[in-house]
Amino acid sequence: MCGPELLHIGIDDTDSLDGRCTTHLAYNIVRDILKNRLGDFVDYPLLIRLNPNIPWKTRGNGAVCLRLRTHDRKKIVDHVTRYVEDESAIDAGANPGVIILASRVVPDVVQEFGRRAMYDILSLEKAKKIARKYDSIDHFLYGNGHGLIGSLAAVGTQLWGDHTFEAIAYRKLENCKTTRKIDPLKVIKCSEETFPNTFNNYDFAHHRVLIAPHGPDPVFCGVRGETPDIVVSSLEMIKPKEQLDGYMVFRSNQGTNMHLLNELEFRDIKPYMSGFSVCRVSKNPNIIHGGHVILEVKDDCGNSIAAAVYEPTDLTNIASRLKIGDVVEIGFGVGESTSKHQEVLNVEYLSIVQLSQEFRVYNPFCEDCSKRMKSEGKNKGFQCEKCGSRKSTAQKIRVNQERDLKTGLYIPSPRGHRHLTKPSHRYDLVKSFLTIDSASKLIGSWVSSIPLDQRISENRL
Ligand SMILES: [Zn+2]
Repeated sequence: MCGPELLHIGIDDTDSLDGRCTTHLAYNIVRDILKNRLGDFVDYPLLIRLNPNIPWKTRGNGAVCLRLRTHDRKKIVDHVTRYVEDESAIDAGANPGVIILASRVVPDVVQEFGRRAMYDILSLEKAKKIARKYDSIDHFLYGNGHGLIGSLAAVGTQLWGDHTFEAIAYRKLENCKTTRKIDPLKVIKCSEETFPNTFNNYDFAHHRVLIAPHGPDPVFCGVRGETPDIVVSSLEMIKPKEQLDGYMVFRSNQGTNMHLLNELEFRDIKPYMSGFSVCRVSKNPNIIHGGHVILEVKDDCGNSIAAAVYEPTDLTNIASRLKIGDVVEIGFGVGESTSKHQEVLNVEYLSIVQLSQEFRVYNPFCEDCSKRMKSEGKNKGFQCEKCGSRKSTAQKIRVNQERDLKTGLYIPSPRGHRHLTKPSHRYDLVKSFLTIDSASKLIGSWVSSIPLDQRISENRL
């Protein structure tokens, strides 16, 4: 008898706009595996947000990967596929894909697929080709099978680098159609006490609770933060009146800007890609209807493109004061080209690297009476209108103007954040997770409602 196998289970596209949710499916699978003692989890379930600029996604474009050791691969495969078949919204337009890789290491090709899925557009054909190439991979498709792309990408993503955690609390099915009752004062208090170890709980500028969705899905709320302990204890702080089903902690690339890590040259970009570029402003900003700001930027190779800063990001005030020649780094998603416009870069963050110098030019002063002189024509010198004194060699005076902008990083306010947006306070954090063995010491309370003798926290919520 050999030792246990390491399984990597990727699941994507099980949810649909009418309310089902891939993280909830993962929660049910995990509880089932633990209840039936089918395996030991070596990492928190991963919640991987993929390229957010692809339009054909469901709400959050989030895929899930579960990693566990098991002696019973076949039983796990049966469990996972049964859950996906029973609980996905296949009739309502979901197209689930499942990847189950049995291997100590994730093949390089799969890792590369995961890396690209953060910023590029990948095809189902390519995912199928990779899945078929390895004996160690089982794959399952439902509907048109589009979810295979995300499930393979999730397996390819191990998040050895920067990552965050989210504790997601789930509602009982019978409550899903009712309004979520969350006390904003508790959320504010929790936010104040735990920031910066939790983040994006509350938008203080616009007085909005950010932790709860509004749709009919089973997610009650989710708290994001830096450690599993802090997100679980924060959930307890905002304990709602409604009786919940339970919760689970995910490790995630949310809040890491992982989709913007790739530097893109303008000549290589295609619609829906994500990335960043260091470039120069080549046309002064133009404020258009709705308060959005459009400018033109040029990269080192001399290619130029329009960049749009939208009003809800709250960056338009900064963007509108940029001038030709300013050097900026922008993170962006590439918008679709239309008959009217070429591609446009939708700006997700703006960092001003260097401000161009701006001069005002004045006529010289008269040496006799100190009045400003008048030009006699190009290269013909100046004459004083008051005393008539002439100066053929006088030059115009250039005066350096103060810019009303500072170099530095500008990021959207929380209401303009997407799942992957890195909040400003996280820019100083360097977080890494070295090996799968160091991940295997999961906190006892990472998932609720599992049998008491296996890391308990029955009905904590
Ligand atoms: Zn004069």
